[in-house]
Amino acid sequence: MTPRIAVGSIFQESNEFVTTQTDLALFRNTYVHERDALLQLAGTDCEVAGVLAVCERERAQVIPLVAARCVSGGPLSDACYASLKEALLAPLREAAPVDGVVLAMHGSMTTISEGDPEGDILEAVRQIVGPDVPVVMTLDLHAHVTTRMVKHATGLVSFTHYPHDDTFTTGERGATLLFAALHGKVKPVMAMAKVPLLACGCNGQTFGDAPMAHLTRRGRELETQPGILSVSCFQVHPNNDQPGMGSGGLVITDNDPALARRLASDLAEEFWARRHAFQPDVLSVADAVAAGRAIHGGPVLLVDTADCAGGGAPGDSVALLRELLTLGVTERTFVMVVDPDAAKACAAAGIGQTVSVELGYHIDPTWGQPIRVTGAVSLLSDGRFLYTGGAYGGTWASMGLSAVLHIGSIETLVMSYPTYDWADEQYRAAGMDARQAKFIGVKNPMNYRIAYRDVAKTAFIVDTPGPTPSDIRRLPYRRLQRPSFPFDDVCQVTLIES
Ligand SMILES: [Zn+2]
Repeated sequence: MTPRIAVGSIFQESNEFVTTQTDLALFRNTYVHERDALLQLAGTDCEVAGVLAVCERERAQVIPLVAARCVSGGPLSDACYASLKEALLAPLREAAPVDGVVLAMHGSMTTISEGDPEGDILEAVRQIVGPDVPVVMTLDLHAHVTTRMVKHATGLVSFTHYPHDDTFTTGERGATLLFAALHGKVKPVMAMAKVPLLACGCNGQTFGDAPMAHLTRRGRELETQPGILSVSCFQVHPNNDQPGMGSGGLVITDNDPALARRLASDLAEEFWARRHAFQPDVLSVADAVAAGRAIHGGPVLLVDTADCAGGGAPGDSVALLRELLTLGVTERTFVMVVDPDAAKACAAAGIGQTVSVELGYHIDPTWGQPIRVTGAVSLLSDGRFLYTGGAYGGTWASMGLSAVLHIGSIETLVMSYPTYDWADEQYRAAGMDARQAKFIGVKNPMNYRIAYRDVAKTAFIVDTPGPTPSDIRRLPYRRLQRPSFPFDDVCQVTLIES
């Protein structure tokens, strides 16, 4: 008998501290592949491609549902979520009964009315397929794992790397677990234990001596032991405001709930023991520039993580640019900002022309005021670029109409849309060569470690305002449970079991 496996994905990381909502048009700017169109993801680097590869090895028939991916951003509008959810469920209803379901999701998506869409979708899928069909969901390691997700999934399997360069293999691992359950080789049981620990992603890398490196190495060791099917370590995305958010371990064993419980609790306690190491050292922009000037050569990275499009920020902050102008920086410097009107003004002026624009904070005015700048336009483009790796590797994206504006020594990449910042694809697409700059503004807390690994002299995390700040105590949480670290220093372990 050929197993029939339904495969779907709705992947977005939401940020409830921005004023914008994510709609279908923004998803389509990355991709929305309905039904058979999903199959074109085969051969890319995403989780769905890993799932498809395992299905092919297993000679399974794939029932493609929908695969939709979007840059992080505001919560999904209710209409957007309803449309994508139905695009996933309708083909499943039509195809039922199926032998298994694999879904690739983030785990920290939110919508205007639903704080736990991944749990909502798992519940709906479970209603369609019944209690006995294996349903596996892959997750980002920044997922907010809920009771509903654990209850309705057969298995939850997360990325093990940050930066996320293991999306394909995570899809493979999830699908492999699904087939093992389907063939009756294993009976997965899950336990998730979490502690109320939140931190920005700056110190979240899974290599070297970082806390997540120790935790994920422990996870890989455990997976070599008999009866342990999968270990996931989650450092929750701190930019939503949901009850029950925390970091911890999720362990899947072969029908040994006590072992799953014990190991998950051990991991949660190790998270807590390492909590201070998750908090990054930050500098003011002035101190970072002074420290950078004391270093011979460059580039020196100024990590403006507060405006990280990969964490849901609109990318429209000019806080760093404003400080650089105030400091009178004369060294060659690259910065980027999303401002569609300014991009249009640059295009209207034309290459080689001087233009004066109000720049920044036109998408989300919460975090600052625009600045008036005058500069020369050196480049205009349609903003298309190809991702070189990570979850989007092998797929195209677009910054929309884009321009490079020279404001004194500062070359500002002005873009129309925020895009996920994997490496330095955006700067490269605009012809900006990192080796030529003294200072470079980067807006991702982590991925610069890949993009500039062999290039940057050093990196400083700067303390700037925005919805993805390096110090999360800047965020106005309302629903987050207390105590929570770093606001409070009280450990409480929460256990969720399947
Ligand atoms: Zn992540």
